[in-house]
Order: sequence, then structure tokens, then C-alpha cells
Amino acid sequence: MTAPFASRLLAWFDRHGRHDLPWQHPRSAYRVWLSEIMLQQTQVATVIPYFQRFVERFPDLASLAAAEVDEVLALWSGLGYYARARNLHRAARELVANGVPESADGWAALPGVGPSTAAAIVAQAFDERAVILDGNVKRVLARHAAVDTPQEAAATQRELWALAEAVTPAERAADYTQAIMDLGATVCRRGRPRCDACPVSEDCRARIEGRAAELPVRRQRKVRPVRERVLLWLEDGEGNLFLEKRPPRGIWGGLASLPVCECDQRDDSRLTELGLQRLGEWHSLGGLRHAFSHFELAAEVQAALVRTAVVADRPGEWYAIDRLVEGPPVGLPAPVQRLIRERGASAFD
Ligand code: SF4
Repeated sequence: MTAPFASRLLAWFDRHGRHDLPWQHPRSAYRVWLSEIMLQQTQVATVIPYFQRFVERFPDLASLAAAEVDEVLALWSGLGYYARARNLHRAARELVANGVPESADGWAALPGVGPSTAAAIVAQAFDERAVILDGNVKRVLARHAAVDTPQEAAATQRELWALAEAVTPAERAADYTQAIMDLGATVCRRGRPRCDACPVSEDCRARIEGRAAELPVRRQRKVRPVRERVLLWLEDGEGNLFLEKRPPRGIWGGLASLPVCECDQRDDSRLTELGLQRLGEWHSLGGLRHAFSHFELAAEVQAALVRTAVVADRPGEWYAIDRLVEGPPVGLPAPVQRLIRERGASAFD
């Protein structure tokens, strides 16, 4: 008789799972929560250096709650999905004020924590049984049970939650949670699943029916609309670049960015808004493309030397380009940070 799904998975985890992730040593609620937020939409290998830098600066909840959000965003720079960092900071303040919950419902009430993340935190931090269903787990379960309806459909989600509930064991909650996430990340991968190395292959319907590559089924993505914009690279002639603070909500919320303008604002109206005056001709630094979840940004980068025309309460500041290249003192959107690093110096040298 085939052993239960969880027993096979745990036996595999003991031999092949990941036991040396930085948030596992020590495995506190704070570190597990931080890792789970960073791991949303981001792979383990990318997260590890960010996690290490983050806990070095903010070793505990109190230090994170006491920090300014700008410093949190600066450490998050390049990891993307910045709403996660803003929510993390807000949640840290709530946790300090109200205490750390031990139930999944308590965690799910915090900003940026959905039901699966809440369950993953409780299971790993407190070793309490809690059912998780993140992207990796959905893929494993959809293949194992050959669920072939679109993943996004509400009925499919209910079916997957029921499957997850049925296979989650009462014991070894932390290990099981890590095990099923590891299986999805390293064996039951999105492309080319390694069924020959899989501990639950014996009764996996997708493998038996030869359908692993076509599952899970996703609705066809709509083509993302393209938004054309101009990004302004504004220098003062002394090696400083002007960065505008973005509004707290929306795209690149709260980050410092090259000022963005609509393509029909090629006159100097944006400079006037920023209290700046152009000193020389505009020249193009080329294009920049970046995919957001709902649209694609196609930006042209225009550079000019400018000077402060009006000393006003403008939403931005000058930063030394050298400093921005070395390690920005503020949170920058990943494509802007990349652009600054690639140029590495003034556009007017
Ligand atoms: Fe995934 Fe293959 Fe394992 Fe099935 S047998 S769960 S498709 S790796």
C-alpha cells in the first residue's frame, strides 16, 4: 500500500530538503515572517542576500518598527513589489503595539499577510498545523490530483484548498511546510518537473497520465498594455542627480525615482513643477522597458543639466551619483537603480 502523501514527503525532506536557509537558524516568528514576505513572488536565491542585509540592520521587530520607512525601502531596493516593504513596516508597528499573534487568523489580519502566508508563518514559527497554499504548493497539488480547470477560477481554488487540507499532517508542521515548498521549487518545477526524483510520483495522476507539462492550467494572459513615458535624468553639473519622491501609493510608491512625465510634456513644464531650470539642450540616454503586473512601461530617458530656479518645498532631492552607484541611501525602483549603475557616472562627462 502506498504510504500517505505527507509521510513520503517528510522522508524525502529529511534527506533532500533545504535545512540551511538563513531564516531557519534561528527560526523566530520575526525572521520567518520577514522571509515569507520577501519570498512572495521572489525566488529563494534572490531573497537570501536581501534577508541577510535586512536582519543585520533590523535584527528584531522593535528595530524595524522604530525605523523610518525610507530606510526600509532603501534596504528593499531591487527586490521589487515595494508595497510589501511598506506593509511590512506598518505591520511591524502593529505587532509592537498589539503583540505577536500565534494564530493564523491573527497574522492574516496584518497588512500584506494573506491566508497562505499566515499559515506558513504559524507552521514554521510555532510548529502548529496550518494549511498553506502558495504558488509552489498549488502546482504540486494540481499535478498530483490532475486538476485541469484554470487555477484562477474560484472553484479551482476551493478544490486546491481542500486537497491541501487533506494532505497536511497533524505532526511536524514546520518541516512539512518547508518540504512541500521545497518540492515545488526543486522537483515539481514549473518547467521540466523531475518526476523520477519525486517522492509522491507513485500515485501522481499527472505523471501517470503523461500530463505534467500541461498542468496546472492557467487562463490565457491578456496582452499587457504599453505605457509610454519620459524619464528625466537631471544633473546639476557637480555630479549630483535629482530624484523625485514618488507619492506613497501607486507605482513605485514612496521610492525615489527619476522624475516621470507624459510624452506630450516635452516642453519644460515638469521642470517648472520641480522648481528647476534647464541650462542646456536635452539629449537622449536611450530607452528603458519594465514589465509591471498590469502594464509595460516603455520609457525614453532624456538628460539635461539644470539648476535650482526656485528654492521651494519640492518633492525631491539631489543625490551624488557616486553614492547612488555604490549603494543608494534611498529606495529606488529596480529599473532606475539598474540604469544608474549601468551608467555609473554623469551623463555629461
Ligand atoms: Fe510533480 Fe512529477 Fe512529482 Fe507529479 S510526479 S508531483 S508532476 S514532480
